[in-house]
Amino acid sequence: MKYVVLIGDGMSDYPISELNNKTPLEVADKPNIDELTKKGKTGQLKTVPDNLEPGSDVANMSILGYDPQKYYTGRGPLETGSMGVRTTADEVSFRCNLITEENGKLADFNAGHISSKEATILIDHLNKEFSKDFILDKIGDGKFYSGISYRHLFVKKGKNLSDLKTTPPHDIVGEKIDKYTEWNGEDLVIKDIMNYSKEVLKNHPVNKERIANDKKSANMVWLWGQGLRPSLPNFTDIYGLNGSVITGVDLLKGIGVFAGLTNINVPGATGYFDTDYKAKGKYAANSLKDNDFLFVHIEAPDEAGHTGDIEEKLKAIERIDKYVLGQIRDKINDYDRYKIAILPDHATPIDIRTHTRDLVPLTIYSSLEEDFADDVKIYTEKTLVNGSLGIDKAHKLVNRMIN
Ligand SMILES: [Zn+2]
Repeated sequence: MKYVVLIGDGMSDYPISELNNKTPLEVADKPNIDELTKKGKTGQLKTVPDNLEPGSDVANMSILGYDPQKYYTGRGPLETGSMGVRTTADEVSFRCNLITEENGKLADFNAGHISSKEATILIDHLNKEFSKDFILDKIGDGKFYSGISYRHLFVKKGKNLSDLKTTPPHDIVGEKIDKYTEWNGEDLVIKDIMNYSKEVLKNHPVNKERIANDKKSANMVWLWGQGLRPSLPNFTDIYGLNGSVITGVDLLKGIGVFAGLTNINVPGATGYFDTDYKAKGKYAANSLKDNDFLFVHIEAPDEAGHTGDIEEKLKAIERIDKYVLGQIRDKINDYDRYKIAILPDHATPIDIRTHTRDLVPLTIYSSLEEDFADDVKIYTEKTLVNGSLGIDKAHKLVNRMIN
């Protein structure tokens, strides 16, 4: 038996006036998703427990079968895992965004989607400057690790820092920075690091060139999502399946690492609109032969939600359908026993540009159970409310598919 879980990050939405009060899922042309919905069973999943933030970390951890109430320790540590950085029990991992600060406000949470090449130069420079004695005296040790585009990491000793109240930068675009860094005592060190990063970055040649080219300056780091390393039971031990994760996002790779799954790196997978859908679909389809379980994640619809870009969201859904699911279906038909689950991890509605904790629409297609399909014919937020699977907690999904 082969199992595929396909995640269109942030794909579900609310009705949008520009789309005649329809959602992108209602408008997009997605013949593959709809066909599997018609021949499969549908329902809704609760991917985010009430006491946790509706982030891709919590939601995807749930979908992979790990109850986040039990296993979630923060976003930073998951991404640290994905980069092969091993932390000790007393080290705290922060997510570190390169952001654009303007007049004391957080102007852009991704510094104009800075390229990985430019970002790496800036992160190297930060490490160099932060290892100077006068800074070490003030903040102690700590190290930046460069990731993809604006998404990086910072690791520092100090268990207590894991409890600090930090804020996701994508939730406070346009707001005064001071409001979100009102810390005291030992925690002030994090504010010092963020403030000193401004000094280090503002006149760097990379930023001078970006400004000269009308691009946003990556003139500050924003630390958030921190935590101690998690310990997840091994996926293969629990389910008896060997499996892989395909994603362009470090966070998701990290969940894979901690779960003991293999990360398949796809050239051209960017975690953004320009991700190479064809390559992702091809790698996913080709890796079926070596994997019983495949977790395929595409970030682009979520990014479209955050930027409020209706066109890009429609395009992202259509490309997932055509290039990713289409290629998977072409290959998976070689096996007569398989199941495919299709769902977003959470909604990222265009109108509010951030994640919500709404139930997400779920289709489970099984090649063995076409005769038991429910009455739902197309994949939308509204239609799947009536699905035969009802409502369930996301961390039960994998178990449900397998048993
Ligand atoms: Zn998001």
